[in-house]
Amino acid sequence: MPSAYENALKQIDKAAALTKVDSETLARIKSVNKIVQVEFPIVLDSGKTKIFQAYRVQHNNWRGPYKGGIRYHWNVDLDEVKALATWMTLKCAVLDLPMGGGKGGVIVDPRDCSKSELEKISRAFARAIVTDIGPEVDVPAPDVYTTPEIMGWIRDEYEKITSTSAPALITGKKVENGGSEGRDIATAQGGVHVLNEAVKKLKLNAKGLRVVIQGFGNAGGVMARLLFEQGYKIVGIADSKGAIYNPDGFEPKLVYSCKLEKGAVNNCSITLHEDNAKNTVHLSNEELLEQDCDILIPAALENQITGQNADRIKAKLIVELANGPTTTGADRILREKGIMVAPDILANAGGVTVSYFEWLQNKRDEKWSKEDVLQKLEEKMVAAFAAVYEKAQELDVDLRRAAGVLAIERLVKAMPKSA
Ligand code: NAD
Repeated sequence: MPSAYENALKQIDKAAALTKVDSETLARIKSVNKIVQVEFPIVLDSGKTKIFQAYRVQHNNWRGPYKGGIRYHWNVDLDEVKALATWMTLKCAVLDLPMGGGKGGVIVDPRDCSKSELEKISRAFARAIVTDIGPEVDVPAPDVYTTPEIMGWIRDEYEKITSTSAPALITGKKVENGGSEGRDIATAQGGVHVLNEAVKKLKLNAKGLRVVIQGFGNAGGVMARLLFEQGYKIVGIADSKGAIYNPDGFEPKLVYSCKLEKGAVNNCSITLHEDNAKNTVHLSNEELLEQDCDILIPAALENQITGQNADRIKAKLIVELANGPTTTGADRILREKGIMVAPDILANAGGVTVSYFEWLQNKRDEKWSKEDVLQKLEEKMVAAFAAVYEKAQELDVDLRRAAGVLAIERLVKAMPKSA
């Protein structure tokens, strides 16, 4: 299987082949501007000292400051962070945001850390990268297993060291700490807009369409709730420990409460009605992807839909809320099967879009209402979908390649002259 970064570069190559971009410009678009790799010691609650490794990758800043989340995960590696930074560059261009692409990652299992250990790690990481980030340079945000509270610690540490007030340093903060209304649901809400637009293009009747979601966190968990509220039927849910499937459909809020109580969705059978719970089957999260459904939403990690399982996917539409969930090998198979894929650099861009709104509000010392933020988000997502769809029709290609072409064309316009 290709690595996530190989996958990202292949996707750029495939899109670039449809443009007039020359090989030197393409090489510049693919290259990573800067890799910051750090190690720092932390005294754990046990009294032992552990060295943590972390990265900040700055891929491209032609269109504006580097922008991208920080991931806390035991499997973080440089290849993955480079891939995620590259996708951020493309994503910001597809959404036409004046931002570039960056990403950070700390190798840690946050599920094993106390709150005070997480705070120490976050502050130490901020100290280690303090000269590389800044409101006009590189603006981090949350990603897998990072939270508004963690964003607050990083902001606070940065401000202490630089003796500045810098709310625009980082986005995804708590609302009372300079965060934006609507940021907590932005990724999922953006995904819902893209999904609804795709459903219209496929001429499907939205009511009762069956949805399977892999990943039940900030992205997938919220999207499950929003889709349920719109009348979609959530028939499958997975988290890192396993999956549940029930053709009668789940109420995501009930599953979430059960997960809190029992530790994993796989320990839950609960549906809408007590008597339907017996129809719930318990699966691995790989098996869930292959279950009968109309819409599949990968909302966990990279490389989940591959050349090995793509042929067994039954959905008519895939909405990539995760970054890089589909390999290029799988893409070919999905295209042959006639499955529409709303690509990550479009479908999960709601988060960075509202992060951009948060950054703007911080810089202008403004506070926008939730209605205002969500209205602006909808306009951005619907416009981006329309631009990508139109490009796909024009070039007779899938939405991923069309989004890539759009991003490359916009990047080329912003490219500075080389030295
Ligand atoms: P999160 O930490 O809130 O949730 C991650 C979820 O995935 C958890 O439910 C976890 O149990 C589950 N998970 C982990 N490994 C899994 C596996 N192998 N199979 C099934 N489930 C698994 O993270 P998140 O913010 O929801 O991010 C999820 C994806 O969405 C990532 O790819 C992230 O890059 C992407 N994304 C997130 C945002 C955002 O604003 N949070 C924005 C854009 C993209």
